[in-house]
Amino acid sequence: EYDLIIVGSGLYGCVTAYLAHQAGWRCLVIEKRAFTGGNIRDEVREGINVHSYGPHVFHTRHQEVWDFANRFTPFNHFRYCPLARYGGNMYNLPFNMHTFYQLYGTQTPEEAALRLRQEQGLYPHPRNLEEKAVSMVGRTMYETLIKGYTEKQWGRKATELPPFIIERLPLRFTFDNNYFNDPYQGVPMAGYSPWVDKMLEGTEVRLNTDFLADKDYWMKKAGHVLYTGAIDAFYDYVLGKLEYRTVRFETEVLDTDNYQGVAVVNYTDRETPYTRVIEHKHFEFGTQKKTVISREYSTDWKEGMEPYYPVNDARNQELYQKYAALAEKEEKVIFGGRLGEYKYYDMDKVIEAALNQWEKMQR
Ligand code: FAD
Repeated sequence: EYDLIIVGSGLYGCVTAYLAHQAGWRCLVIEKRAFTGGNIRDEVREGINVHSYGPHVFHTRHQEVWDFANRFTPFNHFRYCPLARYGGNMYNLPFNMHTFYQLYGTQTPEEAALRLRQEQGLYPHPRNLEEKAVSMVGRTMYETLIKGYTEKQWGRKATELPPFIIERLPLRFTFDNNYFNDPYQGVPMAGYSPWVDKMLEGTEVRLNTDFLADKDYWMKKAGHVLYTGAIDAFYDYVLGKLEYRTVRFETEVLDTDNYQGVAVVNYTDRETPYTRVIEHKHFEFGTQKKTVISREYSTDWKEGMEPYYPVNDARNQELYQKYAALAEKEEKVIFGGRLGEYKYYDMDKVIEAALNQWEKMQR
């Protein structure tokens, strides 16, 4: 009945649905939630696009990916320049000459580099995250900007966390607050939901439908299946469950037009229970009379919660590899996206992967 059934209407599924529709394939998208867009979904409140699953900024190095993204709705010129708040002071992120000035009073790259060399702790074989971070950026920056935030994110002391969690902490010796280095950056002017909904135009979509609840039925109807749900769930967890880290948001409408003057402020102290405050209107230079903010809390993931980030440790990676070996044997099912491949994917990488996968599917 269908050339292709796509399970999941996240970005991966929507890009593929668009390509399949363009190519004249009979395609069906099945989505278990009540809405399309997966984790980039946003909803309008007080005339403001609220990023329901966390702040999203599109960025890419590749012109083809940028051109593809702009095919559906235009993007604005937003640049992600978050701030950190600690002990009543504000600091620029990512770590750059502004941050060094705020932390140490250094004014030139040479002064900053010297100060950092003096600060860096001597841990040739760091045993935990704290030692690793201190060896990279020194104790002042670690205690002000990294320690509390990381402990809240992981719900554990930095001395109890493995060093591999932070592989590098880029230090920028220019006065540049732009978080991303990519030449193409922005947010869809109309919002992320209209952006992906445009990709789905002309494709049949069934919402509130769990593919796994009727897997055999749907499998019979499809020539190919692109599955972007959780890979362990597809196999009914026969080998065990993959773990995730998760976040939750408390969202509030405030009767002020500008609460914090910037899209994101990280709270890097241990005492404030949330990790970030997101003020959504600043992603689109909003001038509405009210504002909407979300406080982001890191929480341990339990069954039934929304999975956000795959856990990048040996146990979970080994288990994923076992599921991936089963997936390779599938004849008509392809696994894609952050849940299907158990991998953190930025949106530009999702587009690249879906474009590449589509090429392969046509062969
Ligand atoms: P998803 O969006 O998860 O889509 C999968 C879909 O499948 C979901 O809609 C789900 O409901 C559906 N589904 C699952 N199982 C079934 C089933 N059995 N039956 C039917 N449907 C099913 N990327 C950036 O580039 N920039 C950012 O600033 C950025 N910020 C982020 C912030 C946060 C907090 C997080 C968590 C991620 C962020 N990302 C960012 C990454 C971005 O969210 C992902 O790249 C993108 O959402 C992945 O899309 P996907 O289609 O792979 O997965």
